[in-house]
Amino acid sequence: MHVDLTTLYLLVIGTLLVSAAMTLWERKIRPEHRDAMGFWAAGYTALAAGCLAATDRHMLPGVCGAATSNLIIMTGYLLILEGVAALNGRRHRIASAGLLAGIAVAWCVAGTRWQGLVWDYVSALPIALVSAATMREVLLCHPLKHLRARRVIVVTTASYALLYAGRALLLPFLTQAFGPGFMAMASAVTMYGGVLYSVVLPMALLTLIREEAHDRLLRASLTDYLTGLGNRQWFFEQGARLLGEPHRSLSLLAFDMDHFKAINDRHGHATGDEVLRSFARIARKLLGPDAVLARIGGEEFAALLPDCDGMQARRIGQAVVQHFADHASITAHGLAVHATVSIGLADMAIGLRTSESRAEDDLAALLSAADRALYAAKARGRNRVESAVLAPLPRVSFG
Ligand code: GH3
Ligand code: MG
Ligand code: MG
Repeated sequence: MHVDLTTLYLLVIGTLLVSAAMTLWERKIRPEHRDAMGFWAAGYTALAAGCLAATDRHMLPGVCGAATSNLIIMTGYLLILEGVAALNGRRHRIASAGLLAGIAVAWCVAGTRWQGLVWDYVSALPIALVSAATMREVLLCHPLKHLRARRVIVVTTASYALLYAGRALLLPFLTQAFGPGFMAMASAVTMYGGVLYSVVLPMALLTLIREEAHDRLLRASLTDYLTGLGNRQWFFEQGARLLGEPHRSLSLLAFDMDHFKAINDRHGHATGDEVLRSFARIARKLLGPDAVLARIGGEEFAALLPDCDGMQARRIGQAVVQHFADHASITAHGLAVHATVSIGLADMAIGLRTSESRAEDDLAALLSAADRALYAAKARGRNRVESAVLAPLPRVSFG
């Protein structure tokens, strides 16, 4: 089957225009990526316009047609780069303008004498550079690191950069060695590359934006809006994961603010919220980075401490009680707010897990034991840590 170059150009133009329309459509519901998507839509449109101009470049006199279409196409690639850079909060406007000016000068100086050489080889070099820069921007974008579409974009832009670098640096020698037939084959390969690029890149960029939005929603659904800690659902998900892993020991601390209703009644809900935030900060700091700490209810928090036995967990709990009582004084309307917390502790040695027990059931059992200890702490005067007494279970080790 033979597909002529004009058909391929028209295919690329159509694909790019559809991609531009789809990107603009998606842009309406993604205000956080307005700039990036605006650049991409403009980039696809410029590439389509450049391809159209390239098919009719011989209609303009001298070098004008080739130079104009090449500059429009380069503007398209640079706009796509600008959009990816916008995801990183970066800009390349001065470098882009400089590159376009350089290309214009090259066409004026060299293009007028060696139009074929500049069109076939030299103009491929800036495309290779801009594709490589686009790949670099994607690699630099840390928030997108774990998204699957990112890999597709990196592979697409890297392959495109290599294709055009080969065209600029190797093709002149290969054409000389193998004759003009090789040049025709290289043009077809470049065009097929263009078709793939115009389909894969816009789709991958759209997928990237959707994946990121999905990720953000998922994170928000597992985060407590007030304190920034994980919420109840996150705690149970992470807790089951921790209990499913082998640990030497595992402790659970259940926290409940003391007389919190009275704090709200006396100082207002906003001050109560500030006390909760202050507790979250203190607990986060004292429990350490390995602890799974979450707000599991209104003024209730829970923490799982892996590889931490009852004695260690008790010491940590007492430090939280002490520190919170000493430092949670917030001044509201000239009145000092004094807040305290009670803690129930339950711990589980590795041997206490039975091989048949489900991690979710063990977590629920641990939490209810810690809750009972918490009620004991309330009954014994609050502002303290009490430990649960767990009934011993048959010792079965992991492995
Ligand atoms: P105890 O020492 O026995 O735990 O007494 P308490 O007053 O802390 O317990 P109670 O369960 O009676 O009251 C809990 C209060 O926590 C009632 C509710 O208004 C308040 N609360 C729950 N969620 C929030 C919140 O997000 N912000 C604020 N400011 N208050 C909250
Ligand atoms: Mg409570
Ligand atoms: Mg309470």
